[in-house]
Amino acid sequence: MSKALYPGSFDPITYGHLDVVQRAQKLFTQLTVAVVENPRKAPLFNTTERKALVEKALDEMGIADVPVITYSGLLIECAKGLGVTAVVRGLRAMSDFDYEFQMALTNRDLDSGVESVFLMTAGRYSFLSSSIVKEVKQYGGDTSKFVPRCVERALEKKFGLA
Ligand code: ADP
Repeated sequence: MSKALYPGSFDPITYGHLDVVQRAQKLFTQLTVAVVENPRKAPLFNTTERKALVEKALDEMGIADVPVITYSGLLIECAKGLGVTAVVRGLRAMSDFDYEFQMALTNRDLDSGVESVFLMTAGRYSFLSSSIVKEVKQYGGDTSKFVPRCVERALEKKFGLA
Protein backbone atom coordinates (compact mmCIF):
# COMPACT_ATOMS: atom_id res chain seq x y z
CA MET A 1 0.00 0.00 0.00
CA SER A 2 1.69 3.23 -1.12
CA LYS A 3 0.25 6.36 0.38
CA ALA A 4 1.12 9.87 -0.76
CA LEU A 5 0.45 13.42 0.32
CA TYR A 6 0.03 16.34 -2.10
CA PRO A 7 0.56 19.56 -0.13
CA GLY A 8 0.12 23.11 -1.35
CA SER A 9 -1.43 26.49 -0.70
CA PHE A 10 -4.10 25.93 -3.38
CA ASP A 11 -5.09 29.63 -3.30
CA PRO A 12 -7.12 28.67 -5.28
CA ILE A 13 -6.82 25.21 -6.82
CA THR A 14 -6.31 25.26 -10.62
CA TYR A 15 -6.49 22.74 -13.46
CA GLY A 16 -2.67 22.47 -13.09
CA HIS A 17 -3.02 21.17 -9.54
CA LEU A 18 -5.88 18.87 -10.59
CA ASP A 19 -3.71 17.48 -13.39
CA VAL A 20 -1.07 16.55 -10.80
CA VAL A 21 -3.76 14.94 -8.58
CA GLN A 22 -4.92 12.76 -11.49
CA ARG A 23 -1.35 11.71 -12.34
CA ALA A 24 -0.55 10.93 -8.70
CA GLN A 25 -3.73 8.88 -8.32
CA LYS A 26 -2.40 6.48 -10.95
CA LEU A 27 0.82 5.95 -8.99
CA PHE A 28 -0.40 5.65 -5.41
CA THR A 29 -3.09 3.57 -3.77
CA GLN A 30 -4.11 6.46 -1.53
CA LEU A 31 -3.60 10.16 -2.16
CA THR A 32 -4.42 12.88 0.36
CA VAL A 33 -4.40 16.59 -0.47
CA ALA A 34 -3.15 18.86 2.32
CA VAL A 35 -4.08 22.54 2.21
CA VAL A 36 -1.26 24.15 4.14
CA GLU A 37 -0.60 27.49 5.76
CA ASN A 38 2.30 29.12 3.96
CA PRO A 39 4.00 31.82 6.04
CA ARG A 40 5.59 33.21 2.83
CA LYS A 41 2.21 33.97 1.29
CA ALA A 42 -0.79 36.12 2.28
CA PRO A 43 -3.68 34.09 0.85
CA LEU A 44 -6.78 35.47 -0.86
CA PHE A 45 -8.90 32.60 0.50
CA ASN A 46 -8.56 31.44 4.10
CA THR A 47 -7.68 27.82 4.85
CA THR A 48 -11.30 26.73 5.32
CA GLU A 49 -12.32 28.33 2.02
CA ARG A 50 -9.34 26.78 0.18
CA LYS A 51 -10.14 23.32 1.55
CA ALA A 52 -13.82 23.64 0.57
CA LEU A 53 -12.79 24.75 -2.94
CA VAL A 54 -10.42 21.78 -3.35
CA GLU A 55 -13.25 19.44 -2.33
CA LYS A 56 -15.74 21.08 -4.70
CA ALA A 57 -13.21 21.09 -7.57
CA LEU A 58 -12.43 17.39 -7.09
CA ASP A 59 -16.15 16.72 -7.08
CA GLU A 60 -16.73 18.79 -10.23
CA MET A 61 -13.94 16.84 -11.99
CA GLY A 62 -15.38 13.50 -10.88
CA ILE A 63 -12.22 12.70 -8.89
CA ALA A 64 -13.20 10.43 -5.99
CA ASP A 65 -11.43 8.96 -2.95
CA VAL A 66 -9.06 11.87 -2.39
CA PRO A 67 -9.45 13.16 1.17
CA VAL A 68 -8.61 16.82 1.77
CA ILE A 69 -7.09 17.99 5.05
CA THR A 70 -5.70 21.26 6.36
CA TYR A 71 -2.36 21.50 8.05
CA SER A 72 -0.19 24.14 9.66
CA GLY A 73 3.22 23.11 10.84
CA LEU A 74 6.03 20.97 9.56
CA LEU A 75 4.97 19.09 6.46
CA ILE A 76 7.07 16.10 7.38
CA GLU A 77 5.18 15.74 10.69
CA CYS A 78 1.91 15.72 8.74
CA ALA A 79 3.33 13.06 6.39
CA LYS A 80 4.50 10.92 9.30
CA GLY A 81 1.17 11.29 11.10
CA LEU A 82 -0.67 9.99 8.04
CA GLY A 83 1.86 7.22 7.46
CA VAL A 84 2.62 8.33 3.90
CA THR A 85 5.87 7.36 2.20
CA ALA A 86 5.80 10.04 -0.50
CA VAL A 87 5.18 13.75 -0.82
CA VAL A 88 4.02 14.74 -4.31
CA ARG A 89 4.88 18.12 -5.82
CA GLY A 90 4.16 19.50 -9.27
CA LEU A 91 6.83 20.97 -11.51
CA ARG A 92 6.06 23.52 -14.18
CA ALA A 93 9.34 25.04 -15.24
CA MET A 94 12.91 25.42 -14.08
CA SER A 95 11.74 28.31 -11.93
CA ASP A 96 10.01 25.82 -9.58
CA PHE A 97 13.14 23.71 -9.29
CA ASP A 98 15.34 25.69 -6.88
CA TYR A 99 12.74 25.97 -4.15
CA GLU A 100 11.50 22.40 -4.59
CA PHE A 101 15.06 21.03 -4.50
CA GLN A 102 15.74 22.90 -1.27
CA MET A 103 12.48 21.70 0.33
CA ALA A 104 12.97 18.10 -0.76
CA LEU A 105 16.49 17.90 0.66
CA THR A 106 15.41 19.58 3.90
CA ASN A 107 12.50 17.17 4.28
CA ARG A 108 14.84 14.25 3.60
CA ASP A 109 17.14 15.47 6.37
CA LEU A 110 14.17 15.69 8.72
CA ASP A 111 12.90 12.21 7.82
CA SER A 112 14.62 9.93 5.33
CA GLY A 113 11.54 7.66 5.27
CA VAL A 114 9.49 10.13 3.27
CA GLU A 115 10.46 10.53 -0.39
CA SER A 116 9.63 13.58 -2.52
CA VAL A 117 8.12 12.75 -5.90
CA PHE A 118 7.91 15.35 -8.67
CA LEU A 119 5.35 15.16 -11.43
CA MET A 120 5.52 17.23 -14.60
CA THR A 121 2.34 19.03 -15.42
CA ALA A 122 0.68 18.79 -18.83
CA GLY A 123 2.28 21.29 -21.24
CA ARG A 124 -0.87 23.39 -21.47
CA TYR A 125 -0.71 24.09 -17.71
CA SER A 126 2.99 24.80 -17.51
CA PHE A 127 2.38 28.58 -17.43
CA LEU A 128 -0.55 28.34 -15.04
CA SER A 129 -0.38 29.52 -11.43
CA SER A 130 -2.91 30.51 -8.78
CA SER A 131 -1.43 34.04 -8.87
CA ILE A 132 -2.05 34.45 -12.61
CA VAL A 133 -5.63 33.22 -12.23
CA LYS A 134 -6.26 35.74 -9.44
CA GLU A 135 -4.77 38.55 -11.51
CA VAL A 136 -6.86 37.74 -14.58
CA LYS A 137 -10.07 37.40 -12.56
CA GLN A 138 -9.46 40.54 -10.55
CA TYR A 139 -9.76 42.50 -13.80
CA GLY A 140 -12.82 40.56 -14.92
CA GLY A 141 -11.06 38.23 -17.37
CA ASP A 142 -12.25 34.78 -18.40
CA THR A 143 -10.56 32.07 -16.30
CA SER A 144 -12.68 29.14 -17.46
CA LYS A 145 -9.68 27.48 -19.14
CA PHE A 146 -7.68 27.61 -15.91
CA VAL A 147 -10.03 26.67 -13.06
CA PRO A 148 -13.25 24.69 -12.57
CA ARG A 149 -16.56 26.58 -12.50
CA CYS A 150 -16.87 26.42 -8.68
CA VAL A 151 -13.50 28.19 -8.33
CA GLU A 152 -14.43 30.84 -10.92
CA ARG A 153 -17.63 31.56 -9.00
CA ALA A 154 -15.72 31.87 -5.70
CA LEU A 155 -13.23 34.28 -7.32
CA GLU A 156 -16.05 36.37 -8.81
CA LYS A 157 -17.66 36.59 -5.38
CA LYS A 158 -14.37 37.52 -3.71
CA PHE A 159 -13.69 40.29 -6.21
CA GLY A 160 -17.30 41.56 -6.09
CA LEU A 161 -17.94 40.58 -9.71
CA ALA A 162 -20.92 38.29 -9.05
P1 ADP B 1 2.93 26.19 -2.59
O1 ADP B 1 2.59 27.47 -1.91
O2 ADP B 1 3.23 25.08 -1.63
O3 ADP B 1 3.91 26.28 -3.72
P2 ADP B 1 0.85 25.93 -4.58
O4 ADP B 1 -0.59 25.77 -4.33
O5 ADP B 1 1.29 27.18 -5.29
O6 ADP B 1 1.54 25.74 -3.18
O7 ADP B 1 1.39 24.68 -5.39
C1 ADP B 1 1.32 23.39 -4.86
C2 ADP B 1 2.12 22.47 -5.73
O8 ADP B 1 1.52 22.38 -7.01
C3 ADP B 1 3.55 22.91 -5.97
O9 ADP B 1 4.35 21.76 -6.07
C4 ADP B 1 3.47 23.63 -7.28
O10 ADP B 1 4.73 23.60 -7.98
C5 ADP B 1 2.45 22.77 -7.99
N1 ADP B 1 1.76 23.50 -9.05
C6 ADP B 1 1.21 24.73 -9.02
N2 ADP B 1 0.68 25.06 -10.21
C7 ADP B 1 0.90 24.01 -11.02
C8 ADP B 1 0.63 23.73 -12.38
N3 ADP B 1 0.05 24.61 -13.19
N4 ADP B 1 1.01 22.52 -12.86
C9 ADP B 1 1.64 21.64 -12.06
N5 ADP B 1 1.95 21.83 -10.79
C10 ADP B 1 1.59 23.00 -10.27
